Amino acid sequence: MRIILLGPPGSGKGTQAQLLVQRYGIVQLSTGEMLRAAVAAGTPVGLKAKEIMAGGGLVPDDVVVGIISDRIDQPDAKNGFILDGFPRTVPQAEALDELLKRKHLKLDAVIELRVNESALLSRVETRVAQMRERGEEVRLDDTPEVLTKRLASYRSQTEPLIHYYSERRKLSTIDGMMAIEEVTRAIHRQLLALGAVEPKTHARSAAKAAPAKKTKAAKKSTQKPAKAAKKAAKSAKTAEKAAKKPVKGAKKATRKTAKKAAKKTGKKAVKKGAKKAAKKVTKKRAKR
Ligand code: AMP
Repeated sequence: MRIILLGPPGSGKGTQAQLLVQRYGIVQLSTGEMLRAAVAAGTPVGLKAKEIMAGGGLVPDDVVVGIISDRIDQPDAKNGFILDGFPRTVPQAEALDELLKRKHLKLDAVIELRVNESALLSRVETRVAQMRERGEEVRLDDTPEVLTKRLASYRSQTEPLIHYYSERRKLSTIDGMMAIEEVTRAIHRQLLALGAVEPKTHARSAAKAAPAKKTKAAKKSTQKPAKAAKKAAKSAKTAEKAAKKPVKGAKKATRKTAKKAAKKTGKKAVKKGAKKAAKKVTKKRAKR
């Protein structure tokens, strides 16, 4: 599966990308992360990008296209990838189309996370506070001034991509103001609807998310954790299969039968009650 996450800074692209990575076992390709690593390592690309990034501008298209093209060729990207922060301009999108074509790869979807601009500043402030709490180095471009510039460049250079991908029938827009897990669910539903993922990824993630000791298979098992997890995944898969149509039908049937039975029982009860009452009256009359 190959998808693009589109959205302004602070829209939650990075957070969602990480969750999708866990769920589908694909890699996150974030040009921002790659550029920050290049800056930290002092590579020629890093030296070129450093000032531009600190000022909230965009690194030249050919630089980021080159980085992405090389990264897509790495073995870990064979399974699929999520592009986070790329493409950011129409020429980048065109270059991506070209290079995917050359590599015989297909883009499955472009997910736009739509958010209220008023929420972005506070989201970035929260991110900064959390990074400080974790003792991580805070990004130089996560300041109110630079954020304003990054937002302006998003509006003028990246927003046209919404039109670009919607014209190509690739765009899905999701409300990025919902809670994190709601957004993830909405993305998953969208990917399911597009046929980009198989329903079984539910089971896979459920088995991954559920602590092994809570699953039946793992409780019983004295095997190694990896084996237990495999078994748990299998049982989750089976459970999911079982939860499909036939059971639905069976549930309906059971409900219907139960209703019928209840009706019958109800009728019987009424009949029984009437008989008892009639007997009582006859007895009383007989006494009299
Ligand atoms: P991000 O982590 O996606 O917010 O990116 C941080 C910074 O890296 C951006 O403000 C840009 O300066 C630069 N950058 C990241 N991705 C791109 C891209 N696709 N094109 C140009 N510049 C980029």
